[in-house]
Amino acid sequence: MNILVINAGSSSLKYQLMDPATGAVSAKGLCERIGLDGRLTHKVPAKDAKVTRDIPMPTHSEAISAVLEILVDAEYGVISSLDEVDAVGHRVLHGGVKFVESCIINEACKEAIRECIPLGPLHNPANLKGIEACEQVMPGKPQVAVFDTAFHMTMAPKAYRYAIPTEYYENDHLRRYGFHGTSHRFVSKRAAELMGGQTEDLKVIVCHLGNGSSLSAVKGGKCQDTSMGLSPLAGLPMGTRSGDIDTCVAQFIMNKYGMSADECLSMLNKKSGVLALSNGVSSDFRDLEAGAAKGDEACQLALDKFRYETCKYIGSYAAALGGLDCLVFTAGVGENGPETRAEICKNLAFMGVELDPQRNLVRGDEALISTDDSKVKVWVIPTNEELMIAQDTAELCGK
Ligand code: AMP
Repeated sequence: MNILVINAGSSSLKYQLMDPATGAVSAKGLCERIGLDGRLTHKVPAKDAKVTRDIPMPTHSEAISAVLEILVDAEYGVISSLDEVDAVGHRVLHGGVKFVESCIINEACKEAIRECIPLGPLHNPANLKGIEACEQVMPGKPQVAVFDTAFHMTMAPKAYRYAIPTEYYENDHLRRYGFHGTSHRFVSKRAAELMGGQTEDLKVIVCHLGNGSSLSAVKGGKCQDTSMGLSPLAGLPMGTRSGDIDTCVAQFIMNKYGMSADECLSMLNKKSGVLALSNGVSSDFRDLEAGAAKGDEACQLALDKFRYETCKYIGSYAAALGGLDCLVFTAGVGENGPETRAEICKNLAFMGVELDPQRNLVRGDEALISTDDSKVKVWVIPTNEELMIAQDTAELCGK
């Protein structure tokens, strides 16, 4: 079976054609510079083939057309006709309070995604463009929306409400939503399997540490809390995002430097985080580790701050869950950063986290990295949001 998974951004569109049963990816790629000129990079893993083509992409429709054309291309194609695409699954950023799970795309679903634009002003319009482009180019093909926020909708009001006047919650739906939900769901489900299939009451903390980072506290398979909020700016310091910050810092900067709220938010989203703490060296953890190894104190501070805040979140989530059975690291840094994992876990021995230094050397593979005696089992589990999207799509479309 072939599910086309689409992740549409404002000027880019990522795609994968995959089998939801096996996770095998027959083709994947990226359309860039949509609205400017347009470039397609297409890979066929089985042939170790990669091709880049400049193709005019004034809108997302031309981008989707280019993807479909290359999927049936004589040289780089992987299917002989578009009839072989069974359904399309879309990553959609913000589902607001309306979407607690994935759904088949119809007019009502699209309208609800549109209504969530004020909550996800950058991503939801782009996600809709991806959906509408597919409708235009492949009329009648079943489509499914998978929301980044949905997994977190099981949080209780004490976790998701902000302590601000109720009118902002009731009138404007301002609350914690959380993101990376598809990753947190995939990884916590896999953790439960690895822990012997016992999900009831299993207490898991998932650390999704990448360019964007978030944690979730999961009990019995249901999310209890997560570190991102109304937007992905909240929680840990990230590649270029500040993470949690006293709102008065923003007020001070806006007043002193005559910045608008949007300008200040842009600075907090794009020029902050470990990029800022390293004095502009990099938002990439590999560069920071290389810099710190050469004695760059700002790079070391950036790493220390990231690891310290992650450790603090784990402690607070263990308290919120009333204990911890399993700690999981995933995403770019979580899967590939033994040093970061070791530093994060160093102060967690008091609650039964004990890493095995040899096992912890793993990069990019699923592995148990705690000692046999560790009370809390610590795992590296590579995330696969695309597979989760493909599986939801196949299930909802009855494939
Ligand atoms: P993601 O957003 O999940 O793709 O993660 C991207 C981040 O993962 C990059 O900023 C890198 O810093 C980090 N990363 C990827 N590979 C490694 C590695 N081998 N060692 C340390 N960090 C890595």
